[in-house]
Amino acid sequence: MQRRQPDWRAVRALVLDVDGVLTPRQIVLHGDGGDVKFFSVRDGRAVKSWIAAGRPAALLSARQSPATARRAGELGIEVVVQGCADKDDGYQRIRLQLGVSDEAVCYLADDRTDLRVLSRVGLPVAVADADPLVRLAALYVTDAPGGDGAVCEVVERLMRRQGLPCPRDAWRTGGWGDHAGQPARAGGESSHVA
Ligand SMILES: [Mg+2]
Repeated sequence: MQRRQPDWRAVRALVLDVDGVLTPRQIVLHGDGGDVKFFSVRDGRAVKSWIAAGRPAALLSARQSPATARRAGELGIEVVVQGCADKDDGYQRIRLQLGVSDEAVCYLADDRTDLRVLSRVGLPVAVADADPLVRLAALYVTDAPGGDGAVCEVVERLMRRQGLPCPRDAWRTGGWGDHAGQPARAGGESSHVA
């Protein structure tokens, strides 16, 4: 059976897993209950450009973290589902909020808990360092690993294929600035985040 080809032009909404996709696979936990996540500046810039082009984005995470909510706010991502035991259920809520069909969704993932969602969407994508089963389920596997340019790679490809102004081009002309790439500590008390 021939594998279907990814249809980049059909995508209208970007749904992103957080841990292992927007961040590297490791999570730093503090004894006081907070956590630290590392986000890519490049990925952030790309997401902003996607949203600025009138395309929605959403975050889907099984974990609950203030750092995720904070990053979503920085990037202008309005639809965020966190702390869902069943990611498929979380995805359905996102899809209804965005008002799009499965075929119009691109989902970026890295782990086996994402497999059901990946099987639903029009464009399932795995990051380079995803679980082997996830890479197998995806129609596209990024060159970049999670937390280090995978999201940017996908957004740039989507925007080019759809004839939208590419983030890389916008960066050259001074747009899409994002200076919040330092580690964001949960709880908001950190002084090292601009
Ligand atoms: Mg993950």
